[in-house]
Amino acid sequence: MAETRHTKILIIGSGPAGYTAAVYAARAMTNPILVQGLQPGGQLTITTEVENWPGDTHVQGPDLMVRMEEHAKAMGAEVISDYISSLDLSKRPFTAQADSGTTFTADAVILATGAQAKWLGLPSEEKFKGFGVSACATCDGFFYRGKEVVVVGGGNTAVEEALFLTNFASKVTLIHRRDSLRAEKIMQDRLFKHPKVEVLWDHAIDEVLGDENPLGVTGVRAKHVETGETTDIPCDGFFVAIGHAPASELVAEQLELHSGKYVKVKSGSTQTSIPGVFAAGDLTDDVYRQAVTSAGMGCMAALDAERFLSEQE
Ligand code: FAD
Ligand code: NAP
Repeated sequence: MAETRHTKILIIGSGPAGYTAAVYAARAMTNPILVQGLQPGGQLTITTEVENWPGDTHVQGPDLMVRMEEHAKAMGAEVISDYISSLDLSKRPFTAQADSGTTFTADAVILATGAQAKWLGLPSEEKFKGFGVSACATCDGFFYRGKEVVVVGGGNTAVEEALFLTNFASKVTLIHRRDSLRAEKIMQDRLFKHPKVEVLWDHAIDEVLGDENPLGVTGVRAKHVETGETTDIPCDGFFVAIGHAPASELVAEQLELHSGKYVKVKSGSTQTSIPGVFAAGDLTDDVYRQAVTSAGMGCMAALDAERFLSEQE
């Protein structure tokens, strides 16, 4: 049955930012509620090895996020499996409508909805999504044992996905639109040394090629960015790893944004353009976008929210 629940602090999102905010808000005895969304644990649940989380030389992304969830719960946060479909920030208490029918009202809101994978926007990409086109090597790499795959992108995600795919595929071609990668140097070294990896520089994806019956990818057509010359590269899987866009749809009409769709916060704080609404992690950060920086902002958001609540009292 539909119910209305009130909380002092509502945290939306269950990545490193959301769970860290929950740990801090719970330890401040504010009894926060955290709504997990469609991807409990956030982006790190679709990766494997994380090597830059302080204190863990190696940790699996999904394991780290399970530990964060357990930590938040152990401190007293209520973690709810639900999705916020609309949010009204026009008056306090703020109101959030969840998919389950529950309405949450909150004195303060911490937005930690992170980011989602970007797509190239090609009709052929759309057509073969789920039939050879993927944005998650961790999820789908297993299907390409002994097969050839192509990855597009030049950041950490693309390099990580390409290296991960070498565990299954017979050959991995990384296609990048420039002649240098923006991925960390250590990752680039591993990529260039790998015998299964080939890099095609200065090419953009023109089209995903495939069969109709059964529906499936057979290759990609890559176009040289300067000459326009096209090359067809046979493959069974095509992985898009061109970055992520902030998940700001809930608040895009209500809060000030920056750099496109990122939620704007005051410098040195997590305060958004509406008092009582705070934002943390990849939703607001177009520069660092790391687990540890998101967690740090989650901590700041909880401290900012507590301060806001005590000022109201
Ligand atoms: P996210 O992790 O994006 O989590 C967002 C959360 O919001 C999700 O739980 C989602 O379900 C929830 N949500 C969204 N909309 C709603 C809604 N309407 N209602 C309720 N909930 C909602 N960083 C590193 O530091 N080291 C790495 O090794 C590393 N590897 C990566 C590998 C990959 C493949 C990717 C994609 C990223 C990687 N990153 C890494 C970056 C890191 O994952 C992100 O910086 C970090 O997860 C951002 O945390 P966040 O809490 O801001 O958001
Ligand atoms: P990113 O750093 O923004 O890189 C996106 C890449 O895709 C860039 O190389 C970009 O090319 C390319 N690209 C963008 N749009 C394209 C298009 N339409 N067609 C072709 N190529 C396109 O994104 P990311 O790699 O997902 O990383 C996001 C953040 O997460 C980063 O801060 C990263 O450090 C972090 N992360 C960290 C780790 C780690 O620490 N191990 C792992 C994964 C991600 P240009 O280079 O030409 O712009």
